[in-house]
Amino acid sequence: MKNFCWMLIFAVCVSASAQEPSRAVRQPVIVIRAGTLIDGKSNTPRHDQVIVVRGNQVESVSDAASVKIPAGATVIDLSKATVLPGLIDCHTHIFLQGEDPAQGGYDANILNAPLALRAARATVAARRALEQGFTTLRDVETEGAGYGDVGIKEAIDEGYIPGPRLFVSTRAISTTGGYPLEGYAPELDMPKGAQIVDGPVEARKAAREQLDHGADWIKVYMTHRSWVGKDGELVSQPTLTVEELRAVVDETHGWGKKVACHVYGGIGLKRALDGGCDSIEHGLDLDDAAIAQMVKQGTWYVPTISAYYHDWAPSDTPAGQRDRLRVAVHGPSFQKAMKAGVKIAFGTDMGGIPWTEPIAQEFPRMVELGMSSMDAIRSATSRAASLLAMDGRIGVLAPGAFADVIAVDGDPVSDIKVLENVRFVMKDGKVYRSNGQNVGMEE
Ligand SMILES: [Zn+2]
Repeated sequence: MKNFCWMLIFAVCVSASAQEPSRAVRQPVIVIRAGTLIDGKSNTPRHDQVIVVRGNQVESVSDAASVKIPAGATVIDLSKATVLPGLIDCHTHIFLQGEDPAQGGYDANILNAPLALRAARATVAARRALEQGFTTLRDVETEGAGYGDVGIKEAIDEGYIPGPRLFVSTRAISTTGGYPLEGYAPELDMPKGAQIVDGPVEARKAAREQLDHGADWIKVYMTHRSWVGKDGELVSQPTLTVEELRAVVDETHGWGKKVACHVYGGIGLKRALDGGCDSIEHGLDLDDAAIAQMVKQGTWYVPTISAYYHDWAPSDTPAGQRDRLRVAVHGPSFQKAMKAGVKIAFGTDMGGIPWTEPIAQEFPRMVELGMSSMDAIRSATSRAASLLAMDGRIGVLAPGAFADVIAVDGDPVSDIKVLENVRFVMKDGKVYRSNGQNVGMEE
């Protein structure tokens, strides 16, 4: 009887493996003719290339002259366009919509909007990202919408709604006095936009809860309020202690995941680096010691430059002076980090910026501060993929990568602004935009 069972299992295995080749053949094949190809990794664009996509993956990339088009393949002609890997934004908030202060701002989003309304808005934000060629987002907290990002990610993965592949961080972590809602009567127990912890035990427990409920990354706020100091310097209020942060980082690393830290500068920045943050978000005011420590520890820098050019308070107010000082110190921080070889990944803080605005506005900001166009493109392709531990799978057009492909008219190397006008979008081998029009977004 025992022998019979083994034989049965063996027979099943043989027939299953015998089916493999025929199943592979049935996968749809799409051939993309690329006039110019920027592969996301190489410094040099190539011309007249052919990308063969089988199923949801890139099978080959080769010279048009040498390639044999597979029989029955669908051919997409982008021979007049520049073709790139799908772009990656490493800092977004699909559950924020650039809340207008005149309409109640951040607080109204939490106090008045039903969660279903917020989820519906997030669904539109996800589609907006995809139609602009951003096929992957690291979405760094829901701002009071709990685990809503895990739900949106599932809806995208199950094909209910169109959207980028999402890396989500759920609720985020800060301390008492370290996150809105604030400014209400102290007798009121107001909801907060992040999970509030005090002490290493609570910090570790929050990380465990968030990881348990589907966080791909943990987001920590290491600074909160900022203002202009008496010597004209930018001061940032620190939040978690090194011990609290270490508990979060230790727990998260144990799960094989990473920690993204919102931080501007000063004490909070020192704690963020001593505590082992994997990525520094915003990093407005990086001193030389911090930059050296980031290089040594291999810490990523996601600068989100564009966000700080929005919503300045009037110049004759303390908040307005603070807003202008943030921008004044951010540029030099970015330039010093770039020169020192800090690993920089593209991030925008979309959601803080309304989703009706172009995500690609961050590219010219980086280039104006001295980054080459190609490095700016790599920061949103292969480098962002490294940040996400997805090397070779996204952010590159090469065999074995997911078939996330976009195209623009013109040459983004000489004019980075053309990335604001994405004509073609494919994600996972499925076309979502063609000739500048959305397609296949109806399901
Ligand atoms: Zn943010």
